[in-house]
Amino acid sequence: MVRKEHHLIKHLIQLQDLIAARAQQQAAHPKQKLVDLDKNIKIMSNELSPELKSHFTRLIQKSVEALAPITGDNCSGCGFALTKTMVNNINGGAIEMSRCPNCTRILYAPDVPLTRNTPRRRWGDPIKRGIERFTAPELMLHKLKGSTDEEVLMELCENMRNEGYVKDCADLHEAAMRREAIISTAVGGAMAFPHIRGVEGGGLTLSVGISKKGIDFGGPTKTKIFFYMVIPTAASAFYLKLLADLTQSFATAASREPLLKAKSQADLWEALIKGTRKMVK
Ligand SMILES: [Zn+2]
Repeated sequence: MVRKEHHLIKHLIQLQDLIAARAQQQAAHPKQKLVDLDKNIKIMSNELSPELKSHFTRLIQKSVEALAPITGDNCSGCGFALTKTMVNNINGGAIEMSRCPNCTRILYAPDVPLTRNTPRRRWGDPIKRGIERFTAPELMLHKLKGSTDEEVLMELCENMRNEGYVKDCADLHEAAMRREAIISTAVGGAMAFPHIRGVEGGGLTLSVGISKKGIDFGGPTKTKIFFYMVIPTAASAFYLKLLADLTQSFATAASREPLLKAKSQADLWEALIKGTRKMVK
């Protein structure tokens, strides 16, 4: 079934991306002025009807994501099971907009669902704490090979795929690059926080990559430490908090040193756990 062009949904997704990029910059960089982003957000918000604008603003303030792609017959924001009629309407583009009856997010059919695997937790597995809730030793890349932004982001994605955390990299990689094009996620301290939002399934997944020589990533200096995140809609509230906690955990050169000096995956894992112990609860 070919979906009709949905200009309003596209407009809202773009606006939501700008607002999320702004929130992300603020979490990592509280003093930065964001004149261009603010201007674009204002222009795009003012193109909405007053009623939609206020609904959209309320949703964004509550949870970062005002829109939720449908996944199967469910709202990906809250998991609510939608009626067949609603799903058909959304897929067919028959009506301008649908709201989730439960969380009131604006629902849409994604062009290509960005999927990740749902990790299997076995009965008796130890309960994870702190940063371990979001990542694992096999997601530590202490020696990134790539020498460009594209190569490094692909390397991080492919490792997640090879380890069974995401299903496919083509679309995820494109989404990560699209996000960087809005405004670079690089911050001071040679760190960057590339990410993909609106992913279907599972929880927030973090991968850490270190580039010894550094990459031009649009930051004030070359970027050496990459915190790469794949974020499902339902987990969107976690990511700004995690981002702010990571930024604070590694705010000083001394705190970043163990990450940069890691000689193995195990070293990097240990540096991450120790470095985030106080901040990431
Ligand atoms: Zn919902």
